[in-house]
Amino acid sequence: MTADSKPLFTKVALIGVGLIGSSMAHAMRRGGLAAHISGFSRSITTLERAKKIGFANTMHGDLEPCVRDADLVVLATPVGTFGALAKEIASLLKRDAILTDVGSVKTAVVRDVGPHVPEGVHFIPAHPIAGTEQSGPDAGFAELFDGRWCILTPPPGTDPAAVERLSELWRRLGSHVDVMDPKHHDIVLAITSHVPHLIAYNIVGTADDLETVTESEVIKYSAGGFRDFTRIAASDPTMWRDVFLNNREAVLEVLGRFSEDLSALQRAIRWGDGDALFNLFTRTRAIRRGIIDAGQDSADPNFGRNRARKS
Ligand code: NAP
Repeated sequence: MTADSKPLFTKVALIGVGLIGSSMAHAMRRGGLAAHISGFSRSITTLERAKKIGFANTMHGDLEPCVRDADLVVLATPVGTFGALAKEIASLLKRDAILTDVGSVKTAVVRDVGPHVPEGVHFIPAHPIAGTEQSGPDAGFAELFDGRWCILTPPPGTDPAAVERLSELWRRLGSHVDVMDPKHHDIVLAITSHVPHLIAYNIVGTADDLETVTESEVIKYSAGGFRDFTRIAASDPTMWRDVFLNNREAVLEVLGRFSEDLSALQRAIRWGDGDALFNLFTRTRAIRRGIIDAGQDSADPNFGRNRARKS
């Protein structure tokens, strides 16, 4: 066995085995990163599905047997549940264990989980910047984190060896790792993820409410651009409700800027200011180019969908 194939953790407890939790399990199995993976789920349906798929060694409907003796515990449920879960598992965490999460916001996680973390346990919040619009244990797959970024937000004074151990896990799950202050994380994600989701939810809602255009027309002509918003707007309602409730400050700040810029666009259209429109659209096209050059998306037209359909 090479040093690289040696498990990094003896027992990893996944609290929540939806898209992210189950993808971590698949990727950990692929890399042989955990000697034992235990999963927790509150619902019988998810429990049974997870057992059937078999990405965990053991599945539990109770937290105690899932968390007991784990050297890595991962909170992978909606962000609004973390505080209560942390309180419940606090006394079960063993000394020197790492407690982490995969939540899409970080300041609120530090606020809600931090106070429950016992002495001797390393609390290192994390956020893999990877996902799809699907949820639940069937949605997970081993490649989800490949080539993506994972942001860690360790509180000041966290043991650097524990941060390195968790970083190594994420690298071996396929990701690049960045370390950041939680507040900065929240503003970066507000602009790159949270506000774009809000815009998608809003435009799809607006289309649904329009009286002058029928629902069948919206669906029939969706390839005009609408379709791409509907993918994002199909994301899990519970998860996204919790994101907006827990990243209020950063989302409102970015939304304020967004509204100002939207008003400027409205004005440019009203006054026929073609240069203003052309200049903005040229700048935004370059951003798309940058994302492709950084390997974060395909250069194929229409995300490669037309090509996939032909084959
Ligand atoms: P998901 O597929 O909907 O899975 C969430 C899991 O949490 C479900 O299996 C559900 O279990 C469980 N759960 C929900 N409410 C619970 C509660 N009150 N108590 C205990 N368990 C509960 O969601 P996900 O996409 O994996 O998201 C999980 C976390 O990852 C979230 O914090 C999210 O912010 C973060 N994240 C998501 C993405 C993304 O794109 N989806 C990306 C990065 C990070 P049951 O099935 O048993 O109800």
